Amino acid sequence: MSVPQSEITGQLAEAVGPENLSSSPVDTIAHALDFWPRALMKSRSGPWPRGPKWVVWPGAAAEVAHVLRIASAYALPVIPYGGGSSMVGGASPRGDRPWIVINCKRMCNILDMDEVSMVVHVQAGIVGVELEERLNARGFSLGHVPTSMTTATLGGWLSTQSAGMLSSRYGRVGDLCLGLTAVLPDGQVVHTRVAPRRATGPELAHLLIGAEGTLGVITAAHLRLHRLPLHRRFDSFCFEQVAPAMGALRQSLAAGVRPLVARIQRDPRLRRSDREQDAPEPTPADLSRRVLLLAYEGPVELVEVEQEIVRDLATALGGEGLGQAPARRWWGQRFAAGFRMTPLLVQDHLFADYVELGATWQALSGLYDNLEEAFEKRGWRTRITVEHARLEGASLGCAFWGEADSAEAALEAYDEAWRLAARVCHAGGGGLGHVYGGGQHRAALLDDNAKQRLAVLTEVKRKLDPAGIMNPGILGTE
Ligand SMILES: Cc1cc2nc3c(=O)[nH]c(=O)nc-3n(C[C@H](O)[C@H](O)[C@H](O)COP(=O)(O)OP(=O)(O)OC[C@H]3O[C@@H](n4cnc5c(N)ncnc54)[C@H](O)[C@@H]3O)c2cc1C
Repeated sequence: MSVPQSEITGQLAEAVGPENLSSSPVDTIAHALDFWPRALMKSRSGPWPRGPKWVVWPGAAAEVAHVLRIASAYALPVIPYGGGSSMVGGASPRGDRPWIVINCKRMCNILDMDEVSMVVHVQAGIVGVELEERLNARGFSLGHVPTSMTTATLGGWLSTQSAGMLSSRYGRVGDLCLGLTAVLPDGQVVHTRVAPRRATGPELAHLLIGAEGTLGVITAAHLRLHRLPLHRRFDSFCFEQVAPAMGALRQSLAAGVRPLVARIQRDPRLRRSDREQDAPEPTPADLSRRVLLLAYEGPVELVEVEQEIVRDLATALGGEGLGQAPARRWWGQRFAAGFRMTPLLVQDHLFADYVELGATWQALSGLYDNLEEAFEKRGWRTRITVEHARLEGASLGCAFWGEADSAEAALEAYDEAWRLAARVCHAGGGGLGHVYGGGQHRAALLDDNAKQRLAVLTEVKRKLDPAGIMNPGILGTE
């Protein structure tokens, strides 16, 4: 179908108001990419990718519905856009047809707050840090703190089933969502009811959470809150190897402890910036040490009991207590490392990214060793963190980076690193894409189990979105 662009421009202006529509290069260039490292690396040796034909900023679900009806009529692809912090190309362009970006950030209001039930009703375009600050001012917190908090929006969180650094205590964002409002591709606005529990069929919200904009646009949500903590405390333990550190964390969770933060990472005392100038180089034994960083929050009595349980378990497994300082220091710098990858991605010959995979405790330690060994054998630098720990398992966040002779070789090495990570992950019983979603990138690397699940969702998408307008090319569900 040919695209009558001026006719569409007129209709979109009517839908959202001319002041909330743009085809200016300033806006289309800004919406041409998200934070997918592969696309950013590709753009450094070629032209900046083509942007959308139209960017719209609707202010409410009814305006989103109007835009989607126009898009359906002309079979135009639509990409919902929050903060553009997707690391998997979820909001990056694809295909040849001109497309519309729906930037959700004008929908940024708190609509209602029920302080008795501790539930907030909020529009989906609000940026994470803004939401948290407004809640804090009223004595509440959401407890969802991803590293991209200053950029990402609530709609982006829900659409990628985001996990923050406090997920061991408060869960993923989907666990906090009690209901939502979304606009389906045909313009129908659906509200899922807010009730602590319902048993009248599968929950529609669960179809939209994690759908990465392929089934509709989320415009608002009801979210569970908690009161700001009265008390917070930190603790840290050093282990000779990663396996006993994982054991201490696993046993603590099994004993009923719900730490606010629980992460296992390299000994921070080995950081070059923290070592004395004439200190000897770290030995292999130093390098295999791992530190368990913990934070607790809640009533003083509860925090003390939790801390004591973990201390006993960690000590029994050979953990040396390092006190509050390392964990407190990590907390103080918890947002500092987030965008540090950017300078690497603008250098022609460098590559970098972050593999995140999930596994049960049974498989986790083997996967950790295999992944680290596979990357180091290739000469790529890697740093693995155990995070998002739950009763049944945890996530391995593996930052990797390396150097090649040219921009093309760097891109090849990057793709090889991902293929390798996927092989190691699947062979070890893990699942790829544990935190950042599937997007364009992970969809091609998934295992058979995930592909089977997505094949069923493809059928659902065909029913809801017969023209295939919603974020085509994402998740592999077209
Ligand atoms: C430095 C850095 C650190 C990060 N740390 C974390 C972390 O700790 N935890 C974590 O989970 N992720 C993290 N991420 C990934 C990213 O921030 C998350 O995926 C986030 O949820 C994306 O939100 P966004 O608003 O930026 O969405 P976008 O990037 O704009 O979009 C993401 C996907 O959601 C869709 N979408 C956006 N809004 C809507 C909507 N209203 N309705 C329907 N679909 C929509 C888009 O089409 C796209 O497919 C990090 C990213 C970076 C760059």
